[in-house]
Amino acid sequence: MKHVIIIGGGVAGLGAAYKVRRSADAGHDVSFTLIEREERLGGCLVTELVDDPETGERYIVDGGSDAFITSKPGVHRVAKMLGIFDDEVRTCDENKKTLILKGDKLIELPDGIMMFAPTKLVPLATTNLYSWPAKFRMALDLVIPRKEKWAEGETAQQHDETLESFVVRRMGRESLDRLAEPLVGGVHASDPAQMSLAATFPNLLEMEQQFGSLIRGFLHQRKLVEEQRRKHPPKPGAKRFTFFSSFHDGMQFFTDRLADAAGRDRIRVGVAASHVMRQPDGSWLVTLSDGTELSGDAVIIATPAWATRRLLGDLDARLAELLDSIPFSSSATVPMAFRAEDCPFDTRFFGILVPLVEHRPVMAVTMSSSKWPDRAPAERVLLRGFVGGPHNQEIMDKSDDELIEIVRTQLVEMLGLRADAKPLFARVFRWTLGMPQYTIGHLDRVDEIERTVGAQRGLGLAGGSYRGVGVPNCLESGEKAVSKVLGDFGITLAEDSVEEKRIW
Ligand SMILES: Cc1cc2nc3c(=O)[nH]c(=O)nc-3n(C[C@H](O)[C@H](O)[C@H](O)COP(=O)(O)OP(=O)(O)OC[C@H]3O[C@@H](n4cnc5c(N)ncnc54)[C@H](O)[C@@H]3O)c2cc1C
Repeated sequence: MKHVIIIGGGVAGLGAAYKVRRSADAGHDVSFTLIEREERLGGCLVTELVDDPETGERYIVDGGSDAFITSKPGVHRVAKMLGIFDDEVRTCDENKKTLILKGDKLIELPDGIMMFAPTKLVPLATTNLYSWPAKFRMALDLVIPRKEKWAEGETAQQHDETLESFVVRRMGRESLDRLAEPLVGGVHASDPAQMSLAATFPNLLEMEQQFGSLIRGFLHQRKLVEEQRRKHPPKPGAKRFTFFSSFHDGMQFFTDRLADAAGRDRIRVGVAASHVMRQPDGSWLVTLSDGTELSGDAVIIATPAWATRRLLGDLDARLAELLDSIPFSSSATVPMAFRAEDCPFDTRFFGILVPLVEHRPVMAVTMSSSKWPDRAPAERVLLRGFVGGPHNQEIMDKSDDELIEIVRTQLVEMLGLRADAKPLFARVFRWTLGMPQYTIGHLDRVDEIERTVGAQRGLGLAGGSYRGVGVPNCLESGEKAVSKVLGDFGITLAEDSVEEKRIW
């Protein structure tokens, strides 16, 4: 029997636990114990069910991740195995509108913008989002030659560049400040001047190589998608996907079901791992915060890189240095609900992006009750402010009450919420050192981390610190860590069946 200790009960750790469980069910002699510091499982996936103080009706409030991207198959595949595929919920695309704050105005994202590149002339010409010189500068993308031609076989990783350098070079400063920064940098809560494109959006670097222009690249991509839709129209009754999805009962529903299927009897909550060391016989010893010890053949550490580094202590000096080199930023989400009569504005939009150049204390606002069905009762509006990020770490020193008032005031100023409107309820979810920053050269560092870990029999690392922060990436990182550590013992796991993988 090979026993795997998994540290961290976020989606990566739970994905690992469920994979060990499936392997045991398939006949392998393996088991696991999962250790989670908090009383609650799920990590960055946290959903609170809140009752309306007046009507008692229910809100579904996501405090961390509120969605997963549907083009990556991991969550669908596992949801299918868990029997919860039909619990996935689509966004309300009839309200699909993104607003961008400029001065005291909210401007709708112009039609035809793909990421931050314009692909339609008339909406670009008529939008007030950019000045005329900026529009002209963006169009120059069509003629500005690529920075350099990659040699045969080279990839984005060898030509890493920051988001800021890339966007300013191709489309000008205003394109970065007005859209690319809040859209791309904001989503990752990252500084565009540090953020690695190779680690986050390598397709942008590849597009420049292939087409010599982002506009031409995105136009080509749009044509391909339209062709595919024509060739393969959706089958009647087949499930349709929106760009992002969630679950009817919120994102934590997914990690809760993962924990159920993996086996809660193998999961210990409310106790932290405090040290991990290799024993002379090659097995692993994990010391817990209650003073007890656990011994296993393998250990998978699915905590943020800074926490992993503390756990591993002096196991390997170079590994410690590499883990230390991944910076993190802190942020908080501040969901709050209002009566519809306190919101005398058009609520039919998904969210607001607030560029850094606006010098506001919020980075973004999500209109949760318009983006998703059934997140709030009728006649109620559920919004969520997002604060913090690398340019505003000081805001994290504010108390919960102060953060709630800051976000409320911003809603008054930006949206026209009634100045005296009091939230029916408000919550603050703090994500202290919760967002890994993929800075320039990140992929080279992760390659080296993987080589170093590869040399340690029975050690696996997983989670959002390495190869993608998105929920599907984290889930699959946990599964890959299981394949790695069991592979170290010559146990080869079967792939999930084609039927499980086939979603469409
Ligand atoms: C505010 C916010 C919004 C986001 N929005 C989205 C989104 O919409 N879509 C998307 O795809 N992604 C989103 N993400 C990113 C995504 O949610 C995370 O990258 C992902 O959930 C991380 O999963 P994980 O398992 O790697 O880590 P975590 O979720 O951080 O889990 C790590 C777990 O380890 C535990 N732990 C730490 N130290 C110890 C220890 N010593 N002993 C035991 N346990 C320990 C922690 O308590 C935690 O439960 C968002 C993230 C945040 C913070």
